[in-house]
Amino acid sequence: MKVTLTAKLKLNHTEAQKAALDAATLAFRDALNYTSKRAFDMNKCSGAAKIQKEVYTHLREVIGLPSQMACSAPRQVAACYKGLWTKCKDHHTRQKFIQSVKPGHQPRPFRGFEQPAKFVSRTLEYQYGKDYTWKKDGKVSVLTLEGRQIMTYQGYSKHLELIQSGCEVGGAKLSYQKSKKQYFLLVSLEVDLPDPQPADHKNVVGVDVGQRFHAVVTNTRNRTTFFSGQQTNHQKEGFARVRQSLQRKGTRSATRRLVLLSGRERRFIADRNHSLASQILKTYPQAIIGLENLKDIRTRTEGRSNPQASLKAKRARRRRSQWSFAELQTFLAYKASLVGSMALGVDAHYTSQQCVKCGHTSKGNRPQAGLMFVCEVCGYQVHSDLLGARNVTLRALAVRQDWTATGALSVRPDVSSVEAKAERLQRYSELRWSSDTSLRL
Ligand SMILES: [Zn+2]
Repeated sequence: MKVTLTAKLKLNHTEAQKAALDAATLAFRDALNYTSKRAFDMNKCSGAAKIQKEVYTHLREVIGLPSQMACSAPRQVAACYKGLWTKCKDHHTRQKFIQSVKPGHQPRPFRGFEQPAKFVSRTLEYQYGKDYTWKKDGKVSVLTLEGRQIMTYQGYSKHLELIQSGCEVGGAKLSYQKSKKQYFLLVSLEVDLPDPQPADHKNVVGVDVGQRFHAVVTNTRNRTTFFSGQQTNHQKEGFARVRQSLQRKGTRSATRRLVLLSGRERRFIADRNHSLASQILKTYPQAIIGLENLKDIRTRTEGRSNPQASLKAKRARRRRSQWSFAELQTFLAYKASLVGSMALGVDAHYTSQQCVKCGHTSKGNRPQAGLMFVCEVCGYQVHSDLLGARNVTLRALAVRQDWTATGALSVRPDVSSVEAKAERLQRYSELRWSSDTSLRL
C-alpha cells in the first residue's frame, strides 16, 4: 500500500534567490490567469493538451516562462476546470433530486462557471526530475525564470530522513508565506507500507466530529474520549472579532493585517487538528477507525446564510462553517496508516438520529434538537455526540466483519450521493425475513 505524505520544507534562500522565486511565481500566476481565461473562452475546456496548444506560444514568448512551466500552467488550469465540471454535474443531480421531492422547487443555477477561474495565491507547481531535483548535501534545485536556483532546506526530521533514504517523490508545490516573506516547498513523498490485514487491528473505533466536541471517539468496548472544542472555539471567536473590526476599518493597512491574520488562523486550526489526530491514534492503537463521510454535510445541515438571522445564530453558523473537520479526517487517515491503524469511510446519514439499542430512527429522538438523545421507542438516553460516535463505530464494525468474511475491502461508494442512498434503502428493503409460514409441499 502506498501512502502519500506531504513534507513542508523551508527553503533557505538568499535575497537574490528570493527575487528570482518572486519573479517566477508572479509570472506563473499571470500565466495561470491568462490560461484560465482562454480555457474559459474555449467552452470551459478541461483538456490539458488542447489548452496547451492554444496558450503555449503566449506563455513562452510574452510571459517568458521556461518550457516546463509553460506546460504545467495548462495542466493546472485543466485540472481546475475538470473539478468544476464535476461540481457542476453534482449540483444538477442534487437540484433534480430536490425537485423530485419538492415539486415547485426553483432549481438554483451553478455559479462556478460565471467567470473564468481566478488564481490568486503565489504558487508554482514542479515535477520531480523535470524542474526540481535533490542535490548532494541536503540541497534542492528548483527552476525559475533565470535558470535553476540551488539552496538548502529545513524540515521535519522524519521527512528529511525519508528524502535522504531516497524514497519516491512526486510533484512539489512552491508556496509563499507573506507574513514571513518566506518560500516553502511542499513535496509529496510516496512511502511503501505493507498492506493492512484484518487481523492487524484490535480496536474498532468510531469518530464523530463536531463543534462542541471537536471529536468524540468511542470503541466497541465502550471506551470513550471527548475532545472538547471549548477553548479553541473561544480563541476562534477572538480571531473573528479582530477580523470583523479590521474589515469595518477597510484601510490599506487593515487589509494587510487581515492577510496576516488569515494565515495565522488557518495554521492554528491545522495545528489543533494535527494534535487531535495524534492523540486519538495514541489512545486507540491498532485500530480500524470509522470516519463519517462528510462530503457536503455543510450544505445539507446549514442551508444558505440568512441575513435576517439573529446574531447568535449567525455566530453559531460561522463557528460551524469554519472548523475544518475534513482536515482532521485527512490527518487521521494518513497518520493512521503510518502507525498501523486504518481509517474507513462510513455512511454519515442519520448517525445522530438512529438509536444504537433498538435501531429506531427519527428526528423525534432529539427532543428540542437538544444535547441529549432520547429514543422515542425504547427510551435509551445518551449524549448526542456520543451517539454519533457509537453509530459510526457500529458501521465500521460492519465493514470490518465484511472484510474478514470476504477477504476484500470493497471500495467505498460515494455514499453521500442521492443514488447511493436510494440504492442502500432498496438493498435493505430486500432483507426482510419472509413472514410466509404456510407449508410448502
Ligand atoms: Zn431505541
